[in-house]
Amino acid sequence: RPTIVWFRQDLRLQDNPALAAAVARSGAVVPVFILDDAAEGRWPLGGAARWWLHHSLAALDESLRERGSRLVLARGESGTVLRELIKTTGADAVYWSRRYEPAVIARDKDLKTGLGVEAKSFNAALLFEPHTVQTKAGGPFQVFTPFWKHCLSLKVEEPVRLSLRTLPAPETWPRSLVLPELALLPKIAWDAGFTKVWEPGEAGAQKRLKQFIASAMEDYGEQRNRPDVDGTSALSPYLHFGDLGPRQVWAAVKASAKGSGIFPPSRGAQVFLSEVGWREFAHHLLFHFPHTPEAPLRTEFGAFPWRTDSKQLRAWQKGQTGYPIVDAGMRQLWMTGWMHNRVRMIVASFLVKHLRISWQAGADWFWDTLVDADLASNTLGWQWTAGCGADAAPYFRIFNPMLQGAKFDPDGAYVRRWVPELAKLPAEFIHCPWEAPLHALAAAGVVLGRDYPQPIVDHGAARAAALDALKSLKQTS
Ligand code: FAD
Repeated sequence: RPTIVWFRQDLRLQDNPALAAAVARSGAVVPVFILDDAAEGRWPLGGAARWWLHHSLAALDESLRERGSRLVLARGESGTVLRELIKTTGADAVYWSRRYEPAVIARDKDLKTGLGVEAKSFNAALLFEPHTVQTKAGGPFQVFTPFWKHCLSLKVEEPVRLSLRTLPAPETWPRSLVLPELALLPKIAWDAGFTKVWEPGEAGAQKRLKQFIASAMEDYGEQRNRPDVDGTSALSPYLHFGDLGPRQVWAAVKASAKGSGIFPPSRGAQVFLSEVGWREFAHHLLFHFPHTPEAPLRTEFGAFPWRTDSKQLRAWQKGQTGYPIVDAGMRQLWMTGWMHNRVRMIVASFLVKHLRISWQAGADWFWDTLVDADLASNTLGWQWTAGCGADAAPYFRIFNPMLQGAKFDPDGAYVRRWVPELAKLPAEFIHCPWEAPLHALAAAGVVLGRDYPQPIVDHGAARAAALDALKSLKQTS
């Protein structure tokens, strides 16, 4: 009898244990994707992620069709859709890959016992699943270094191979929506820039992985903080949607050692894998502290005197703060659905410290605009920046956007690219245009306040106010 393979965030054929196990049962395989926004709790997919999902589903369907199969698309409550599919296909098993968001875990638990057929889940998304890793005392880790050290003492599984050229199809295919009926693409065409940068899907992921390993991995340790160069892998959306699995990343890095037996093959590779480790850590924290997408892990931060200022929040979202490195990041995000990690830290710090607007407001905006929006990594990133998470940067450490810009974008190439109105400013003023003499601004064709905003807050005053706010928090707690 057929097996339903319920695709979720594992949109690939290779290294997909649920699919491999279904094939091994030797009956027909019915691949299905269900769009079920209500099951995501407070976190239904944001706009940019929906764009990614659309294209990734198209790629998956194409790969399945090359193997004589197809992707059945449905929309609605997952349990209801699955029960209906079990009835129409006569399937006696449903297989899927595990997810770790609290609302999804609760829903999946119900389905495990509630479908009336064999329901089995597999690990496709992580190297070390949260329930398999614990401290000596038996609890969850809250500091990255010991977490990762412990993980590195464990075995990483090899990717699961799918060697069949044809997937066994059911006699008749159940009814399916066509992809446009899922309405995943944005109504306002803000995705033109995405198409230029991304190739969602399994093939695009493999290309990017190979390219990164061949050209950037060795220097990753030195280059990873430079937004002006292609120094990182840009694999995050692929890893989020499972176009690529971390076991595949691990195996590819290992294979790049080419029989030297040295693993990791370079310092760059070691640092890169430890960043993949941060993704593991983020999932570990989300699993063990499921309230953290909404509330700070360090509870005293619940009383932080955040400001509500819709005008300044809007300026931040639109890349109009008057701080070039912040604006470049926010515009890169808007145009491409992605932002370099260093700049994510800078813009997030600016929001929660210079503007004292809550990290949740920032996390919400990222959620809607990132193609790699991921509940675990986004929560960790924001709580790290706001100083209220596990192993976080302390709140009193306030990034200076001018110094950050000068250090990590020394010639201003990143700012010039995303804030073209400043493109002609000399490097010495590119991160602080308000300090440029009038003749330099005139030569660059910039009038501050007309072509590019004056800073919306003064750095020194904002810094002092942030430290005062922290002091007031300490006094109340
Ligand atoms: P690389 O440097 O090539 O790293 C390889 C992989 O490791 C990444 O693809 C990613 O999966 C993982 N990784 C790297 N750094 C981190 C990190 N700090 N935390 C968790 N995983 C990491 N990442 C997301 O995937 N989704 C998010 O929603 C997200 N939100 C963030 C919000 C804030 C405020 C901050 C500071 C960081 C956030 N990150 C998020 C983490 C990080 O910025 C991105 O994973 C990284 O920039 C992706 O680029 P890359 O693939 O080139 O990374």
